[in-house]
Amino acid sequence: MVTRLSDARRVVIKIGSALLVDAETGRLRGDWLAGLCTDVAMLRDRGTEVILVSSGSIALGRRVLDLAAPLSLEQSQAAAAVGQIRLASGYEVALAPLACAQVLVTLDDSEDRRRYLNMRATFETLLALGAVPIVNENDTVATDEIRFGDNDRLAAQVAAMAGADLCILLSDVDGLYTANPSQDPEAVHLPVVDDITEDIAAMAGEAVSGLSKGGMVTKIMAARTAMQAGCALVIAKGGDRPLSAIEAGARSTWFRPQDDPRTARKRWIASMKPRGTVAIDAGAARALAEGKSLLPAGVTYVGGAFGRGEPVAIEGPDGNAMGQGLIRYTGDEARAIRGLRSSDIAATLGYPGRAALIHRDDMAI
Ligand code: GLU
Repeated sequence: MVTRLSDARRVVIKIGSALLVDAETGRLRGDWLAGLCTDVAMLRDRGTEVILVSSGSIALGRRVLDLAAPLSLEQSQAAAAVGQIRLASGYEVALAPLACAQVLVTLDDSEDRRRYLNMRATFETLLALGAVPIVNENDTVATDEIRFGDNDRLAAQVAAMAGADLCILLSDVDGLYTANPSQDPEAVHLPVVDDITEDIAAMAGEAVSGLSKGGMVTKIMAARTAMQAGCALVIAKGGDRPLSAIEAGARSTWFRPQDDPRTARKRWIASMKPRGTVAIDAGAARALAEGKSLLPAGVTYVGGAFGRGEPVAIEGPDGNAMGQGLIRYTGDEARAIRGLRSSDIAATLGYPGRAALIHRDDMAI
């Protein structure tokens, strides 16, 4: 389990609008952003992978379009479209020479298994190529019923999806207190939370600041999502060089999960109801036992009608249950390519597919 930033392998960092956008002028706070990006470069230099989840599109776009609050839904969507360009170009300049990648998502994208797996694969590729993904909700197409709603929860979902071991929520609060510290002088700061009990959830109150949508309530919800995925979550204040400050021991609250992301993901996959079955031969069974992916070549039978990304049971050569995994092809596709070598998949399907039928990261054996 990660208990220090320096131990993290893959970190998701959420940046709230109030940090990034000056409330008076509605402009990007360039100096603050430069400090953050210096810290991101420091993490990248020592091999830590970084994904940023950044708010600020609506706040920036509002000023460009000269829209007064409160904004209608249509105005927010328009402001987001305008502001997102500024947001992305701000990061591009501040992160150079690191490549940055814009990823805009809606709640639907994480709930649809196929898009979810595509997104996971794209994050892996971007990180392997050394790019820094900058994620935001696609506010221009997301209306209320299909919204994450706030980037605290979005960040936790991204952390869970990407198998991050640490998620940092940077905002204008330095952690969780037993009561709202701006109203109650007796409020005590909690440096560590190992379990989100009802008492802890009740401490959240409603600490919403002017520009951002999230409050302590959404941060606690985010912490729950992250912890279930085996990811630690930190609530910390976004001062100058905010990541260096966390390393130097600045006040913050650490939510500590019980498992690591791999174990949590395997538990999650094992808990699903399978929608079909794939039987495999002895060679594939050996490969799986060694932690390898399942290739079409080793599959002897495919049963059931299922979609891409759905859970299927894996049966060994003697009919014994070996485990289960999320399959990357539909039932019909899997039947068509069963027993084939990877190089023959494209000719049979008429399009190039993924090499693995079930990737090792998507399997619980
Ligand atoms: N997606 C929104 C934006 O970029 C912010 C949502 C939030 O702050 O939680 O303006």
